[in-house]
Amino acid sequence: MPELPEAEVVRRGVDRAARGRTVTALLLGRDRATRRDPDPASLPALVTGRRVESVDRVGKVLVVDLWAGPGARPDGVERDVLVVHLGMSGQLRTARTGDDRPAHTHVVWVLDDGTELRFVDPRTFGHVARSTAPPGGRPAALAHLGPDALDELDPAALAAAFAGRRVAVKARLLDQTAVAGLGNIYADEVLFRAGISPLRAAGSVRTVEVDRLAAAIPEVLTAAIAAGGSTLGDGGYVDVDGRTGRYQAEHRVHARAGQACPDCAAPITRVRLGGRTASWCPRCQR
Ligand SMILES: [Zn+2]
Repeated sequence: MPELPEAEVVRRGVDRAARGRTVTALLLGRDRATRRDPDPASLPALVTGRRVESVDRVGKVLVVDLWAGPGARPDGVERDVLVVHLGMSGQLRTARTGDDRPAHTHVVWVLDDGTELRFVDPRTFGHVARSTAPPGGRPAALAHLGPDALDELDPAALAAAFAGRRVAVKARLLDQTAVAGLGNIYADEVLFRAGISPLRAAGSVRTVEVDRLAAAIPEVLTAAIAAGGSTLGDGGYVDVDGRTGRYQAEHRVHARAGQACPDCAAPITRVRLGGRTASWCPRCQR
């Protein structure tokens, strides 16, 4: 499923295609894709005629900022936004109006330059919903998320997320209310680079280890973004142009159980952890 790097690659693509463009129509397909919106039937009227001011991101969630225009938005005005959760299999794709729409296209933004932005989601765990955001702040719908793993996380914030927690450190990293943006792939990778066992109680991670982890997180995420994200065997993740990621070739432990650890050559182990799996090197990660 898309995690922070994949969401960021998609965000950049959508921002390139849509920023400054006016939405001339919003087409809704399957109801399930707008199930979290308070009044889906009124979404087209809310969005049509609005200009896309920016496309932002909090954790794995994209935020499309819309302004009625035509002039610039005055400072200090509450913002109307659409939040786009990609879920397990959601994609945002760009195409020209008139191009065939793929199956499972649930939401279409038609833009004034003939571009279409399409939310495509075979499993429909993802969704699109309206929200509002204070100037320069987070949408209300995303207020429950922890600090963004790339843009807002520092050692103090990470230490606060771990303090006193008996839950496994990997499970804590996956909890979006603690840290926003990490999923199974990148939690495995950052714990490996920091030399921390995924099974340790979060509250037992020492300050020096928190510092290593806080340094590893942006390092891994930045490298993954530069490589276009990770596309695993399910092939689900692609960018707005349909291109797969390349970072999976750089994974050191995730989905590599039984292979040699790149640092010590011991076999990488996979364990069940809270309904998911964790891949790690028991020799390098303590
Ligand atoms: Zn090792």
